[in-house]
Amino acid sequence: MDVVILGSGSPMPHPDRAGPATLVQVGERRYLFDCGRGVLMRAAAAGFGAQNISALFLTHMHSDHTTDFNDIITTRWVMSPGPNPLRVFGPGGVGGFTERTLAALETDIGYRIAHHEDLTEGPRVVPQELEPGAVLEEDGVRILAMATDHSPVHPTLGFRIEAEGKAVAIAGDTVPCDGLDAICRDADIYVQTVIRSDLIGQAPSPRMRDVIDYHSDVAQAGATASRCNVGHLVLNHFVPPPPPGREEEWAADARACFDGQITVSSDLLKISC
Ligand SMILES: [Zn+2]
Ligand SMILES: [Zn+2]
Repeated sequence: MDVVILGSGSPMPHPDRAGPATLVQVGERRYLFDCGRGVLMRAAAAGFGAQNISALFLTHMHSDHTTDFNDIITTRWVMSPGPNPLRVFGPGGVGGFTERTLAALETDIGYRIAHHEDLTEGPRVVPQELEPGAVLEEDGVRILAMATDHSPVHPTLGFRIEAEGKAVAIAGDTVPCDGLDAICRDADIYVQTVIRSDLIGQAPSPRMRDVIDYHSDVAQAGATASRCNVGHLVLNHFVPPPPPGREEEWAADARACFDGQITVSSDLLKISC
């Protein structure tokens, strides 16, 4: 199983870090988790396109995780030679979110259908809202969705992907909670959104300081990894992002409480298990 961090960034635009998006690949199956800013540019660099996504999973509907949902829908539709329905799995509300996104694209869809004789219908998107505990099984891959805690954002999901005897946890934005522990238990790879609470706590903007209470900081990510016997902790979605050359400093709080492997991610980082 391969995990590719397509976007290691956060809501703050960064020249080298695209928005949150992670690919989990099992054989030819490509599962995409979140679709933040620039996801299809990074996908192109990783060797695939919107038309090759087996299913899209959304952890929640915060804008940084969904900015390029419209781009995936349109590009998949236009680049596929025939109907290629996009399956979208996410927490409650993903159905309405899909409907509204398609409504926003109506004008463009009309232009393209009018222009291309071989394009006779709009994009097909099949959303499915998942309750915590939902399990999707196909072709030897098992994907478990569990509730995470990103309050006051509700509902939110983290995902555990099991295949080939290995397990990967895609946590998304969350503070430590039971659902997070359930997806991380004995996972080979655990990808976690993190903030530097020590730095953010000193920010002059109250809006910036607000992000502390609904994200794991680096120490909490390390504690979760340790408590859940994780093999490899991958830190991403940094707030603030580590300046080049100071990645180790950004991992220090996790290293203090977790003996396993720790990686401070960058875009297009590939980890296998
Ligand atoms: Zn969020
Ligand atoms: Zn986020």
